[in-house]
Amino acid sequence: MKTILKKPPKTLPEDIGILKEMASFQIPMKVNEMVRFQTYAHQYDLYYICPRCKISLERDFMSYCDRCGQRLDWKDYKKAKIVDSKDLHGSTHK
Ligand SMILES: [Zn+2]
Repeated sequence: MKTILKKPPKTLPEDIGILKEMASFQIPMKVNEMVRFQTYAHQYDLYYICPRCKISLERDFMSYCDRCGQRLDWKDYKKAKIVDSKDLHGSTHK
């Protein structure tokens, strides 16, 4: 008897894109930046920011970003680079 080789179902490139997009949120992204907000003349507040959407995170060591759902990896948080809030938001206006 002949064995009929079944071809795997073809996946549309768009579907792969969506799947990759979904999977990428499950793969923890390293929190490696902090944003510095100036509160008073010589006083600053520091917040860790989401590596995906760059918003300041409400709490340290959150498992997921509450804005975009990105899973967060806090392994390198001590090495976080400090970015000035002006630089962070200023770049989007250029
Ligand atoms: Zn986010």
